Amino acid sequence: MLDLTTHPHRRFNPLTREWVLVSPHRTKRPWQGQVEKAPREKLAEYDPGCYLCPGNSRAGGKINPAYTDTFVFDNDFASLLPGTPAGAINESDLLVAETEPGICRVICFSPRHDLTVAQMDRGSIRKVVDLWAGQYVELGAKPFINHVQIFENRGAVMGCSNPHPHCQIWSNHSIPNEAAKETASQSEYFASKGSTLLGDYLKLERGAGVRIVVENDHFTALVPFWAFWPFETLVLPKRHATGIDEFGDEERDGLADILKRVTTRYDNLFEVSFPYSMGFHQRPTDGAEHREWLFHAHFYPPLLRSATVKKFMVGYEMLANPQRDITAESAAARLREMSETHYMESK
Ligand SMILES: [Zn+2]
Ligand SMILES: [Zn+2]
Repeated sequence: MLDLTTHPHRRFNPLTREWVLVSPHRTKRPWQGQVEKAPREKLAEYDPGCYLCPGNSRAGGKINPAYTDTFVFDNDFASLLPGTPAGAINESDLLVAETEPGICRVICFSPRHDLTVAQMDRGSIRKVVDLWAGQYVELGAKPFINHVQIFENRGAVMGCSNPHPHCQIWSNHSIPNEAAKETASQSEYFASKGSTLLGDYLKLERGAGVRIVVENDHFTALVPFWAFWPFETLVLPKRHATGIDEFGDEERDGLADILKRVTTRYDNLFEVSFPYSMGFHQRPTDGAEHREWLFHAHFYPPLLRSATVKKFMVGYEMLANPQRDITAESAAARLREMSETHYMESK
């Protein structure tokens, strides 16, 4: 008899078709003991040295406008370039390469240097949702763009040196690894069952309840059964939508709301501005319908036990398989009991 709370076991991720090793016997109650609190840093609303603040200059002498809500611009250090000519090499199927055209952009969420999604009001986050949708449509409509990746890297521990609230969009010709894996598994599932993999998964989770973190009328945030980051979450819409562009007015408000509630719970967990990589997965923009796709957001936060103790993906995880100690169920329970009043405002 498999007891998920006691026995070492592995769990299957049906989206990527990879396994994660779970070792719940090592630490059944990860939040026991002293939780070290990081000093609360208070940032200025405007930083004259920040290349994202309104009116400041960026690389190459470009000046940001005096924007009042959101601001989008082409990345000055873009990893992908739109004019890249087509070309490929293949030597014995071993040395294989091809050119990759694309467009990289940066989106500032707010003119305020010191805010985060958790601290922004819902109306301001909604403006970001609208901009995400607009950019997804605009970039996805270009003939050489088949995938649009919107993602936010938050916190120095994630390699993000600028605290100004912003995200990036990398859009390109080929379908990247993670999206290709998820497209393949969702396609196969849809073809064999006639329903979406993630829609059916959400039904199971809402029935069980143990991995749900928070819900509103349109979205559910949960710790996926197969999560490997300690407090990883997956945000799913309650109806079928293949991309952010398919959401109506109320659903966009719902998305803004659920993002605020998830990030506030994260910040309150260790009373620190919680670092994470977050991004949306949605249908490829290759012109096909992709009814198998269900729009979703992944949050991958690295913190494990406190504001300073992070999980490292090293050793066994680099060479064999991801592994976790605290179960998805206990992580969800911990996030569920968090307040939705941000700790910076509550004291
Ligand atoms: Zn700034
Ligand atoms: Zn995904």
